[in-house]
Amino acid sequence: VPETPDAVLDGLDPEQREVALALHGPVCVLAGAGTGKTRAITHRIAYGVRAGILQPATILAVTFTNRAAGEMRGRLRQLGATGVQARTFHSAALRQLQYFWPKAVGGELPRLLERKVQLVAEAAARCDLRLDRNELRDVTSEIEWAKVTQTVPADYPAAVAKTQRDAPRDPAVLSQIYSTYEQLKRDRSVIDFEDVLLLTVGILQDRHDIADHVRGQYQHFVVDEYQDVSPLQQRLLDLWVGDRDNLCVVGDASQTIYSFTGATPDHLLNFRTRHPGATVVKLVRDYRSTPQVVHLANGLLSQARGKAADHRLELVSQRDKGPEPVYTEYPDEPHEAESTARRIRDLIAAGVPAGEIAVLYRVNSQSEVYEQALADAGVAYQLRGAERFFERAEVREAGTALRGAARAGRNDSLLDGAEGLPSQVRAVLSTKGWTTRPPAGSGAVRDRWESLAALVRLAEDFEAAKPGATLTDLVRELDERAAAQHAPTVQGVTLASLHSAKGLEWDAVFLVGLTEGMMPIAYAKTDEQVEEERRLLYVGVTRARLHLSLSWSLSRSPGGRASRRPTRFLNGLRPGSAALGARGGAGGGGGIDRGSGRSAATERTAAVERKPRQTVRCRVCGRTLTDAGEMKLMRCEECPSDMDEALYGRLLDWRA
Ligand code: ATP
Ligand code: MG
Repeated sequence: VPETPDAVLDGLDPEQREVALALHGPVCVLAGAGTGKTRAITHRIAYGVRAGILQPATILAVTFTNRAAGEMRGRLRQLGATGVQARTFHSAALRQLQYFWPKAVGGELPRLLERKVQLVAEAAARCDLRLDRNELRDVTSEIEWAKVTQTVPADYPAAVAKTQRDAPRDPAVLSQIYSTYEQLKRDRSVIDFEDVLLLTVGILQDRHDIADHVRGQYQHFVVDEYQDVSPLQQRLLDLWVGDRDNLCVVGDASQTIYSFTGATPDHLLNFRTRHPGATVVKLVRDYRSTPQVVHLANGLLSQARGKAADHRLELVSQRDKGPEPVYTEYPDEPHEAESTARRIRDLIAAGVPAGEIAVLYRVNSQSEVYEQALADAGVAYQLRGAERFFERAEVREAGTALRGAARAGRNDSLLDGAEGLPSQVRAVLSTKGWTTRPPAGSGAVRDRWESLAALVRLAEDFEAAKPGATLTDLVRELDERAAAQHAPTVQGVTLASLHSAKGLEWDAVFLVGLTEGMMPIAYAKTDEQVEEERRLLYVGVTRARLHLSLSWSLSRSPGGRASRRPTRFLNGLRPGSAALGARGGAGGGGGIDRGSGRSAATERTAAVERKPRQTVRCRVCGRTLTDAGEMKLMRCEECPSDMDEALYGRLLDWRA
């Protein structure tokens, strides 16, 4: 614990000090990744408390995740400041709601709804609609979107028209389901996750006595990651602050990655307009990453377009030189995962603590192959922001269904007509509402779909490795894999999605699966959505302190057609790639590691590799083809023939 309040300011640069000393009035810190925004606000609170200027109980610090809140509390304790509330918007609101509910409404706060999709199904049924599982999930996410953007059912159709959203249903019909769902919740006396913020806002708006009470308690507000605040969170913040102005916000428009939940950097970018007297501080010194990592981050930003990009800040690294980022192209995903695991093992052997290493990917379903590879390599790991693959509810549920079907075997009419193992798996999963078509949009619904898609792929790979394998064999394989991954871990390597890596940092970061379709993700269609994907990669790159690895594989499974291309976002940035759209790295391109050298390849991968190809896959999307015409083309009918033929030919040569 620093001995004096002034000692709390040690270790801050002049601009960060300015932030820490601006204890009154509106303050806005605009700064890039790793420039010490979080550190500046943490020290600011600690300094204010230690100097006796701020009362700890009157401070509310809002962070983006519960983990970030915990870290801030821990850091404050180390700096000698205790008793400060550091919470997410959601947890702060829930606490207030529990406290004020009896007075504002009477009785206890209704319980939180657990099975939202089921209630949406009921609402749809009351509107004489029978929706399948996927439709229900799409409709559910759409209702969530409407709620976080504070769109009431009656206004929903107009909101769709205005934002040009791809609504999963006729907006008038969806509006009706939405309104019925709200009614059902009231009838059953339950509230959903989104209601927590909505109700808190509603109560603070209507009940001046309660709002005054809250404002009496909290007099200083600090908000981290302000670029990703939603309109509803902003409304809540306005109600908390009232007509006072002791508000300090920090953010980086280039790290806006939650627009799909209605978040917008506008609040950050327009802060000075709303608060004309605000102290605005910019930080540009990057304390986190080496000049090599910072150079790539700046390069990514220089290609960014749009509103957020107009406010980008060039970062200047304060660290000594480090290793160059490593770019690696692999023939297939198991190779990529296995080699990543091997490099991680080498880093650990060289003294990098496992807890200082992270593997980051675009969607949670990508974790499976890395979990397996790390388990094979004997490296402990933990998942962030998602449960371990085999512990995910949908995967467990699917496992139960597959086990059931394996027991019923061929007598099960469900499996009639399903020839190979993967189609049997698809048939079983379809009883759980899974279809080959991914749900619209992103978020949790999409993640669940991806998990099950990963199970189908696992079945495909398993069959390719063991032709003639039965459902029973597959279930046994799943159990073995699950058991291997159940090993208790201490502080291991972190596996996380890029979204959940926000605000964090590691000595070594492996950004994996950087192919078109994953980065940007296939469902990013508009320019704005593609820009958000680019920012997501920027967030990923800037998590690394020292070692940064970027990799991709040309096909999904061993022996598959090399139909994938590295992400366009690295064009002109990775060695051997020409700017925008040109082909990269021909003939041993400078600096790109081909990643084909196998040393300690696992038995599993080696076995899979030696097998001749059993199936013909679409060379664009990788799906197994059954139609003769498609097989001749080696492409699904619906897939565009967007493969660069020259590149394709070259890859075939290289593979031979
Ligand atoms: P992000 O945008 O990713 O959230 P940030 O701007 O919040 O990043 P911090 O996490 O606060 O950045 O700081 C990044 C790293 O740099 C941390 O390890 C922090 O301890 C270190 N750091 C920040 N400021 C300084 C400083 N003045 N001197 C030394 N180290 C610093
Ligand atoms: Mg931060």
